[in-house]
Amino acid sequence: MDNTDKLKLAGITVKPVEATTQKKGKCCGKTLPIEDFPIYGKGHRNTCISCLRNESGATEKFKQYQSVELIDELRARGYRGKLEKVIVKSFNL
Ligand SMILES: [Zn+2]
Repeated sequence: MDNTDKLKLAGITVKPVEATTQKKGKCCGKTLPIEDFPIYGKGHRNTCISCLRNESGATEKFKQYQSVELIDELRARGYRGKLEKVIVKSFNL
């Protein structure tokens, strides 16, 4: 007899806690941990992080490299000039 049965005998009903730690992406249809969906407004986006990365042109190919390593590589290949990084932060007011 587990704890749920004991509680039932005592007249206590136990509702199973619905797991909200996973979410199905509208993008790829994969069920992934909720952390894979960026927070958007009061909830999470319906598009998972890897699909968002793919949309923005990022690939998994260079994932293991730090930006500074990639910059060093470009410099070694003769690239010069100004490289800019755009960071967009949005706030709901
Ligand atoms: Zn996806």
